[in-house]
Amino acid sequence: MAKKPPLWYNLAMDPINPERHWLDAAHHLAQEIVAAALADGVEAVLAAVPACHRAADRLWAERRAAVDGESAACAAGCGWCCHQPVEVSTIEALAIAADLRHRPDADVLRERLAAWSGGRICPFLADGACAIYPVRPLKCRGLYQPDPRWCMATFAKIDPPEGGPPIRHRALSLPRQLYDAVGQGMTRPLYRVGLDCSALEFAPALKAVFDHPDSGAAWARGEAPFPDRVRLHGWVEAAD
Ligand code: SF4
Repeated sequence: MAKKPPLWYNLAMDPINPERHWLDAAHHLAQEIVAAALADGVEAVLAAVPACHRAADRLWAERRAAVDGESAACAAGCGWCCHQPVEVSTIEALAIAADLRHRPDADVLRERLAAWSGGRICPFLADGACAIYPVRPLKCRGLYQPDPRWCMATFAKIDPPEGGPPIRHRALSLPRQLYDAVGQGMTRPLYRVGLDCSALEFAPALKAVFDHPDSGAAWARGEAPFPDRVRLHGWVEAAD
């Protein structure tokens, strides 16, 4: 079982955090989007996930303009952060799989998943770019690192080029807090009605359900479409 990562949204809920109310608003917005979809069945719930992704991206774009700090180096062609396991919630994995099955390059993605045998490198990293960028998980969206050499050394375990200024870890934690707030808000309404909201390891989870279009319906019936080996921990830690 993978080490349990910090839930940045929970950490951000410190009463003295000046960003707390903004993050809480993001959390509630995601809850509203998913809660509104619940009455319309599992297809609507799956469709609510990209809506939450878009809401998170929009909120961060608005907030980013007011935040001091260096620009992120994150861009197509820099995939060093994609050399690590990625965590997703159950509903996010199901929604991403549902989207990818209908893409024109679904067969290519299926082959990439089939060829993936584990390890640090995400099977969707192709020529340094994310092959599923528009639907990538919240955890991937929340990374913000001005110095790619840090990611190269830390995630890819590759020695960065020599020379230049010293490497410093200058990642912004605010986007991680925001995207986690949306991720937690997205799962709360599902948790309340008793649906499995576990955190999963993204690549093996996708591999498990990619060829099972009925996996979303199975999850909604209370069945377990994901094997235990891809589970990391319970995503929603405390009921409210
Ligand atoms: S889904 Fe895309 S952004 Fe996320 S780790 Fe994989 S290649 Fe990187």
